[in-house]
Amino acid sequence: MGEMLVQVDTLNIDAASFRQMEEAAAAVGGTVEARVLETVRQRGKQHNPVTGSGGMLLGRVAELAPGRPAGETIGSGDRVASLVSLSLTPLRIDEVRAVRASSAQIDIVGEAVLFASSAYAKMPSDFSDRVALAALDVAGAAPQVARLASRLGATPVIVILGGGGKSGILCAYEARRTAGEHATVIAVESHEPYALELEGLRVCNAVVRADARDPIATRGSVLARTEGREADLVLSCVNTGGTELASILCARDRGVVYFFAMSTSFTGAALGAEGVGKDVDLLIGNGFAHGHAEHTLDLLRESAAVRALFDRRYGA
Ligand code: NAP
Repeated sequence: MGEMLVQVDTLNIDAASFRQMEEAAAAVGGTVEARVLETVRQRGKQHNPVTGSGGMLLGRVAELAPGRPAGETIGSGDRVASLVSLSLTPLRIDEVRAVRASSAQIDIVGEAVLFASSAYAKMPSDFSDRVALAALDVAGAAPQVARLASRLGATPVIVILGGGGKSGILCAYEARRTAGEHATVIAVESHEPYALELEGLRVCNAVVRADARDPIATRGSVLARTEGREADLVLSCVNTGGTELASILCARDRGVVYFFAMSTSFTGAALGAEGVGKDVDLLIGNGFAHGHAEHTLDLLRESAAVRALFDRRYGA
């Protein structure tokens, strides 16, 4: 009751899932396209069997079943993005038209069903579909950072692993905006072009070039930029596993580590913290927060520089 049938144009695959499929396909000479088709054929949804994550979709409302929530203003033909994971969204793919690895987006012909309880956003008119989709994919990140950063002291240290990626950029901007000019915001990024672009935004005190899978080196590089202070808040925005310990080692005693990354091993994080004797709060990144879509789109509307970066990187 109350389902929404959507004609799907584009899937925005979760970054951890896309990276896993790329690596697995490369190892056996396959393609991401074939893996997605196989997953959807087997499971009836894009639910990566290895990472467990999905992504979200863009499409046009084809039909609305009776019993939709009261007061809703959506109608047939409206363009919508799902704000509930593809791992929970019934999907059929009739054709794959393009795979865009740089944005982890796949253009398809197909249909999906959103339930009456599934969150979605009407596509904004002041963004290209691709940019809006990229931002909405990680819409949960910045609002959560605003909450966490607003609880810190006057001169906090905030560290972002994977700071040059999509969610990392939004988190870095939000950390600076919320914690203010006296905060020390340090990003760790392994991809040089992304590190350079993040530096260009001038929201971080430093962008460390390091592989966060090396916890000792990462901690050393970060502390070298904070006069030895450990972080009050660490945000993990990477698309790969094996960085849990670096996140934990960068945090101070009773600090907070926020794992937005779906590539996180929560066993690795919990046992890693115990193993190194760190009393830190480990938070799971909830992809949903009240008003998260508007919060994130407004951030892009506020910052011309972040918007230009998103347009350049994800709009093509
Ligand atoms: P993204 O754009 O791919 O950004 C990830 C960044 O981390 C990239 O710049 C990447 O560099 C960098 N990186 C990868 N390995 C690293 C390492 N070892 N050390 C330092 N930096 C490293 O990804 P995203 O779209 O922002 O997503 C980030 C994470 O959030 C993913 O794990 C995704 O699954 C997760 N996510 C969570 C939710 C949620 O609801 N909690 C929703 C959406 C996404 P390369 O370009 O070289 O890989």
